[in-house]
Amino acid sequence: MKLISGTSASFTGAPPLLLNLEKEKITIRCSHCQMEFDETISWVIYEPKLFCPGCNEGVTVDLLELHNMLESARKQTGNLLKKLADRSSGKRSA
Ligand SMILES: [Zn+2]
Repeated sequence: MKLISGTSASFTGAPPLLLNLEKEKITIRCSHCQMEFDETISWVIYEPKLFCPGCNEGVTVDLLELHNMLESARKQTGNLLKKLADRSSGKRSA
């Protein structure tokens, strides 16, 4: 649970928009039958042990990998926000 609270703690202070990431779905691939299925990020964070709908085997989500994914998504969102801010700051490029 420490890892999980640490993961959520990293969201503290983030712009509200980023919190919506937890409602986004990610694709998880079953390591047993290779079936891919979607799960919301928030669900995966709180319940990293999932059951594959294809073969019913337990699928463990790599929280570190998920964390890295969220980090890169956050960076991308940050860049996007910067671009939007630049655009709305009145700078008109010809
Ligand atoms: Zn499976």
